[in-house]
Amino acid sequence: MVDFDPKQSESLTNAQYSPSEDRMKVYPLGMIGKGFDGFEGTFVHEMGHRFWFKSMTGQARAYWDEVMTHNSVKIEDGDIREFVKLFGMNLDQDETLRQLDRMSLDPFQKAKLREISRFSSYTSKTPEEYLEKLKSMVGDPVLLEGISEYAASGGPIEAFAEVFKAYCLKGPGALGPMTLDLFKRCVSSGGVRLSAANVVRKYLSANT
Ligand SMILES: [Zn+2]
Repeated sequence: MVDFDPKQSESLTNAQYSPSEDRMKVYPLGMIGKGFDGFEGTFVHEMGHRFWFKSMTGQARAYWDEVMTHNSVKIEDGDIREFVKLFGMNLDQDETLRQLDRMSLDPFQKAKLREISRFSSYTSKTPEEYLEKLKSMVGDPVLLEGISEYAASGGPIEAFAEVFKAYCLKGPGALGPMTLDLFKRCVSSGGVRLSAANVVRKYLSANT
């Protein structure tokens, strides 16, 4: 429920969502203006917090937290196997990168394969030695671009609410490819498939 409560002293707060009560409070500051930077934005931001607590698995929350906090994903065994499967053992990095650019892979996967390609096979005497070098990269973090801007101010949970707001009010095109990919993965984790976001969008389009 939305609880309009003008007596609150939190004059610098737009709104709050309490997961234990499942209650949203909107303060006067949060009611100023319309659209993305006004009341709708505040409302959908708080709906994002609700979605986080009510509609996502703990695993998805932890994953979001990890990626947002460290702005990175880790190279896994399967990534090395995929790299060898896609590029074999004897390519130079420039050629690998050219091929990678033409592939339509999920952006996280692409970032990992890009990182793995930094190990040129030329420095190894045998394919086995090269493979061992590649395998030694398992567990290495791969830094992602285009995500940190959301996490800059309030940490991963606030970043989620901001991304939720941008997705609901501006559409998928407002997010960078990695943020969008991460968001879609996390949001579909609880089986909700963005329905809450769709509800918000319908609600807003009917009221503006
Ligand atoms: Zn918030």
